[in-house]
Order: sequence, then structure tokens, then C-alpha cells
Amino acid sequence: MSFFSLILGLGISIFFALLLAVAGRDALRLRGVYRWLVALVALLLAGNTLRLAGESPLAVPASLYLYSAALVVTGALILSDLKRPGRRIWLIGGGLWWLALVGSDLASGSPMLGHPDWIATGLGQSPPDLAITLALAGWSAGGLLLLALPLTACWRAHLPEVANRALFWALVVPLLWFGLFLAAGGTPALISAGWITAFSGALGAAYGVSTQHPFHVRQAIRRGMGLLAVILITAAVILLALLVASILTRETEGDALVLVVVALAAAAFYVPLRELAGWVLRRVFSPAADAAPALRLYGQQITTVIDLEQVIHLAVQTLSRVLDVRSGGVVLASFGEEGRVMLEPAPAGDSGALPARKGQLGQKGALYHRLFVRKMPLLQYDLEFGQAYAEVSAAERDFFTDLRMSAYAPIIVDGRTIGLLAGGAKCNDEPYYAADLETLATIASYSGFALRNARLVTDLRRLNKQLEMANVDFERLDRVKTDFITIASHELRTPLAQVRGYADILESLSTQGVLQPEQMSAMMHNLRKASERMEELISDMLDVSKIDVDALDFHFAPATLEAIVRMAIDPLTEAIRARKLSLSARGLRQLSPIEADMQRLVQAFRNIIVNAVKYTPDGGLIDIRAEMEPHPDGPGTDSVHIAIKDTGIGIDPANQELVFEKFYRTGDPSLHSSGATKFLGAGPGLGLTIARGIVEGHGGRIWVESAGCDMEKLPGSTFHVVLPVRPPAEAYQVTPFEVTRLSISAGERREFMEQVQRAQADLKAEWGAEAEDSQTPPVKPPLQEDQAASE
Ligand code: ADP
Repeated sequence: MSFFSLILGLGISIFFALLLAVAGRDALRLRGVYRWLVALVALLLAGNTLRLAGESPLAVPASLYLYSAALVVTGALILSDLKRPGRRIWLIGGGLWWLALVGSDLASGSPMLGHPDWIATGLGQSPPDLAITLALAGWSAGGLLLLALPLTACWRAHLPEVANRALFWALVVPLLWFGLFLAAGGTPALISAGWITAFSGALGAAYGVSTQHPFHVRQAIRRGMGLLAVILITAAVILLALLVASILTRETEGDALVLVVVALAAAAFYVPLRELAGWVLRRVFSPAADAAPALRLYGQQITTVIDLEQVIHLAVQTLSRVLDVRSGGVVLASFGEEGRVMLEPAPAGDSGALPARKGQLGQKGALYHRLFVRKMPLLQYDLEFGQAYAEVSAAERDFFTDLRMSAYAPIIVDGRTIGLLAGGAKCNDEPYYAADLETLATIASYSGFALRNARLVTDLRRLNKQLEMANVDFERLDRVKTDFITIASHELRTPLAQVRGYADILESLSTQGVLQPEQMSAMMHNLRKASERMEELISDMLDVSKIDVDALDFHFAPATLEAIVRMAIDPLTEAIRARKLSLSARGLRQLSPIEADMQRLVQAFRNIIVNAVKYTPDGGLIDIRAEMEPHPDGPGTDSVHIAIKDTGIGIDPANQELVFEKFYRTGDPSLHSSGATKFLGAGPGLGLTIARGIVEGHGGRIWVESAGCDMEKLPGSTFHVVLPVRPPAEAYQVTPFEVTRLSISAGERREFMEQVQRAQADLKAEWGAEAEDSQTPPVKPPLQEDQAASE
């Protein structure tokens, strides 16, 4: 080895040792990909040092073994840096090849890899030497695969910054591979060249691993091409000038003036040509639009918009104009419990590219710190590859990954981040440069006030909607209340009038002394019936009041549904016969006994069956079916399902929930329920409310299915009751019954209005005084306070 090579090798070994020390320190601190870098540099250092040790028969092949191992490690390094899968497979495959290579070379007795003319000698043998064949095959295939790794990563990259990183590795690989190949064997000059090349490859690898943003390869290539173009143009002009000058000097026999003219002509020709070339290059490679006019226009337009969707549309439109992005959107931020930030993409109509997905940021996280404390823009690439975000939780990371955007800039108002403006990938697949992030942040800052006002308007609209809905509810409750007064007065007045009438008759007959015992007993019977009806009604009202405050108490004991249903039907058999209805029941006997308050369930089923009788015309059918509903958790958690189907008038789908409300009934409220079981005989509208209270008190469910209400076609209704075999623990807890509440009271209504006003005040406090000045449509309270108070 020549003196020059020795000095060079020594120098490079020292550099490798320094690189190893630096990478080793980082590996201890940061681990991960740094370990592979350390392994690579250590192998290169060891290989170099061995090669320097001399031409001994073992040192030369040993250095080649180390270089071969370095190739395998390079693959693992690239996969690890690009966070690509398959590192284990690569290492297993590479490791096996390496073992076979070293094993076969050592087994030959005289290892010859790397010795002068090793390739020609090894291949010249017949059959060719196994170790050399393995080495050549491995190095060529390995080289191709090493190049394929970053190139496929570049092809598959979801962010241009990732593609750039992969492209960078595609530049490093040939340096390392070719450098090591040359250093592996050959003339001292080739070995020296190999060392220098491999060392630059290793430096490149160290730079790639340690830098978050490697230089933009495509941009560098573009700049290089631009430079080449300028050099070529300059060379062409100089050549032309020289040619012309040589011809002219020959003809004019060296007239200096001619040379001056030629030089001036060349310069006059060269300067515009260079300008033109620069212009063409700029046009072809960076068609970036001038951002200023679009930003100015945005600044003007955004102040006039108060609709959230329009604000987002305008922001995204400006983004795509200025940064040439394919998509964009706005993520709204609000502060939740424990200072957590709740994130949610704003609905943006057609211009919305963000998926409807909610996320949260913890106050201690790096993302919160970046976007909400430092209020700096963030690149999705940094989140995925930056050491600063290595500790970000999977949930936070997934939220941003799912948005499929490239960069985010905080939208700030009064020093607070109220949202994020998200920019998607650029149409030309360029990465976001520093100036682009600046532009994104500028658009975000222009959007702040507009977004805040738009959110305020949206919130007020929502509140208005809630108030409107509350108003509808109040109107309905008002109707129910009026109905209640009508119903209660009819229901109570009728039996009262009867009591009064009979009392009058009794009095007048007895004063006349003509009261017959039969008359007496008939009147007494009617008096009892009238008072029973009153008692029934009062007792129903009391039950409903208890249900209202969760105070219906149950006495649970084992009971069978068969007995319950039979007891419910018993008092109705006479009416069923009279109305020529046929009633069937199936499956009740097969049901398991349940823990229930038998008396209450009898009451519930009777209320349902009485309705089936009332709303089914004479001659109709009532069918009761029962079955077990097994639960995966075991028999103790099973339920029973009872369906009571009739062929009556049916219930309109719009009323299927309402029929369970107290005092709700579809018929004319002025009709009283004198005919408790006759067709369409009106009731007070409490039966189903009580049934639901009892079923739910048992931890069960009740609902109705019907195709609709039709007096002609009689679509019928089916009431479903599902009861757990064993009621849940809550069913045993009863609130003491203290107050009787029959309907929503004036106090409750006032309380609701106060809640609404508090919400409005909160809203104002949250949005500050500007909220009142902003151009928001006035919110008209649908119900005035004094109106509520007068109720
Ligand atoms: P009511 O005392 O009026 O029967 P309910 O609470 O028992 O009160 O029922 C409320 C309303 O539900 C009834 O007014 C009736 O319009 C409707 N309804 C209940 N059951 C049936 C049924 N089987 N078929 C049709 N309509 C029914």
C-alpha cells in the first residue's frame, strides 16, 4: 500500500472514530435508528483499520466480511429511518447470506475474498469458487435491493417530506455501496477512492439520521440543473466568441479593437440569454404564484362573512390559490374538562376535506405545547418523524394522521388558539417549505376573528333552535295540561254528577216515603260504581305522580307471567265476550318465573289489554305471545318478551312515543270514559303511562309497533313488553314520595327559562364583549319571562 493510501486510510479511520463517538453518544440518548448508524460506522471503521493493517492473508478477507455486514446493516438503517416494515426479514436474509459467505470462504482453507484479482481468479476456477460467487451475487442483488428500499418508500410515501427523505437515502446508497465495493479490493488507488466514497456515504447516513429535514433533493436537483444550464450557456457564448474572435483576428491580423467589439457583442448577447434561461427555469420548475394579491383579497372578503361554512370555504380556496394545495379545512378547538382541548373538524359542506372525527389534546403533550402554548405551525411530517413528538400518545397521533393533511397553523384570537387551519398535500407534490408554513400561518391569522364570529353565530343559531324546540315542547305540554283539565273535569264531574243525582233522588223519594228497597239497592249500586270510578281515577293520578318522581315502590317476589296475564284478563272476560272479540295466548306457560311485583304487573298488562279491547272493533282478535329472550351472560340475565297484538285501528307512527306520555290520547278529550271497554271509549290517557312506569321500574322496556292509524283498514297494533327475569339492583331503590306533581309546573318552566338565560350569559362571557357588537342575527326568545311567570 502506498504511503499516500496509508495516510488517507489513517485519516479516514480517525474520522470514522470521531463519527462513531458522536453517533454513539446520540445512540445512548436517543436509541432507535441511531443504533444502526453506530453499527454501520463501527463496521466501516473496523473494516478500514483491518485493511490498513496490511496485506495479511486474513486481514483482507476479514475487512471484506465487515464491509458485507455493513451492507446488511445499511438496509436495516434505511428501513428503520423511514419507519418501513420488513426490517426483521431483511436482517434474517442478509444474516444468512453473510454467514454462508464467511463460512464458505473460511472453509476453503485459504480465504481469498478481497485479495488481488480475487474476482477473476475465483470465477476462473471450474466450478467457480462458492464464496466468490456468493459475494458477487450478494453484492449485486444487495445493491439493487438497497436502492429499491428507499425508492419504493418514496413511491409509497403519503407526505412529500417522507418522499424527500426516501429520495435522500436513494442518494446515500450508491455512495456507500460503490465506496465499499472499491475499498473491498483492487489497486491502492481504487481502494483510496473507495474509502473516500464510502466515507461520504457514511457522513450522508449520519446526516440523514440526525437531521429532521434533509435538504430537498428535488429542489437541489433543480438548482443543479439550473446551474448546469447557466454553465452551458456561458460556455457556448464564450466558445462562440472565441471562434468569431479567432476568425476575425486572422482576417484583421490581430486588431485589438475587433476583440473589444467581439467581447462587447458576446456580453450583450450573453446577459439577456442568461436572463431568459433563468426565467424559463423559474417558469418550468417553480410556478409559485405571488401570494400577496390572493392574501389581500382574502383579508378583504373574510371580514364580511359570518357563516362558518363560508369562512372555511374561503380559507380553503385561498390556500389552494396561494399554496396550490389539493385540500384543506379547519379544526375547531374548545377547552374541555381538566384543561383538555377538544378538537373537531368544522363542518364545511362541499369544501370540507376533513373526516368527521373527534380528538383531544392533553395539556402536557408536545402537540398542545406547539399549537396552543407556542402557537407555532406544525408539519404532519414532524409529528411522524420528529424526536420532539416521539412521546405523543397514539390517540393524539391517530387523530392527526386520520385528517390526512400536511400542515397545521393555529388560528389565534386574543392570544388564544381557537382552531387549526389545515393544509393538505400540494398539487405538485412538493413539500411545505418554511415560507409555505409562514403563508399558512398568515391565512390562519386572517381567519381568527371571522371564525370566532362564525362560531358564535352557529352557537346562537343552535341555541335558537333549542329554544324553538323547547317552545314546541311547551306548547305540547300546554296542550296536555289543557287536555288534563278537560279530561279531569269530565272524568270527575260525571261520577260526581251521578252521586249528586242519586243523592237528590234518594232524598226526594225518602221525604215522599215512597222508596222501595229494590230502588234503594239499585241506586246504592250506581252510587258505589260512581265513587269507584272516582277512586280509580284518583289512584291512577297518584300512581303517575309517583312514577314522575321515581317513587313507585315495588314488592318483588317470584311470579309467573301466566298468572299475571290471567289476572289481568279476568275482569275483562265479560267485556271481551260482549264485544265478540277472540283472545288467544301462547307461550306464557313456557316462560321462567320472574322476580316481580305481581300486583303492579297485573295493573300494567291490564292497561295494555284494556286498550286492545277498546281500540279493536267488535269481532276482532287479540293475540298474546310470549317467549324467552336468552342473554349471553347466562340464565340469570335472561328476559321474557310478551307481545300483545290486536286487529284494531292502529297507532300513527308519529304518536307511537307520545301515547306513553301522561294525559296523551288521540281521541277527543271532551269525551269521558263512561264506557270503559266499549269501542273507542275514551280514557284519561294515563293507562300506558302507568304501564311504562311499572315495566321500566322492573328494569324492562315497553314499546308499540303499528303500521299507522286507520279506522277502515284496521292495521292493528302490537305492544311489546320485555322484562328481565331478575330486575337490576336500581329497581329496588325507591325515592321517598313527598310531592305530588302532575304536570310541568310554572316553577319548572321558570327554571328552564333561567337555564336558557344562564346559557346565553355563559356564551356571552365566553366570547367576550365583541359578541354583542358582531353582526349576529338577534335571537328571539320564543317565550317571554313574564309570560312564563304568569303561568
Ligand atoms: P287511555 O286512557 O286514553 O286509553 P292510554 O294511556 O291507555 O290512555 O292510551 C293512550 C292513547 O293511546 C289512547 O288514547 C289511544 O289513542 C292510544 N292507544 C293505546 N292503545 C291502543 C291500541 N291498542 N290501539 C290503538 N290505539 C291505542
